[in-house]
Amino acid sequence: MTDTALQVRRPVWRSIKRGLAHKCPNCGEGRLFTRYLKVSPVCEHCGEDLARYRADDGPAYLTILLVGHLVIAPMLFFPIVWETSPLVVMPIALSAITVITLTALPRIKGGFVGLLWAIRPGDHQH
Ligand SMILES: [Zn+2]
Repeated sequence: MTDTALQVRRPVWRSIKRGLAHKCPNCGEGRLFTRYLKVSPVCEHCGEDLARYRADDGPAYLTILLVGHLVIAPMLFFPIVWETSPLVVMPIALSAITVITLTALPRIKGGFVGLLWAIRPGDHQH
């Protein structure tokens, strides 16, 4: 029995989990980001070409959508939100969304890069 088939496989969930942890989806050791939201062009640990798996704006929209639903929807269940002036509620809600989005964005982007890496988009997509 040869395990060659297993070696070339890229498990989707393992890749996403490594991305969420800000790790290279290939080896799980190297750092995925050089700076906040800046994906390393090449993994410092295994040399995997990570620049090919740029996630672009997808994760940003996904994060805002997700956070918007997770923050705004539960808020509407609290009567205090309705009894307070929108001029007071809106800035608080918007700053909460901003903070949570900026915190969640690198993780979601990392998971997104991990997913792209696992499903291997064509080499010639530009
Ligand atoms: Zn690596």
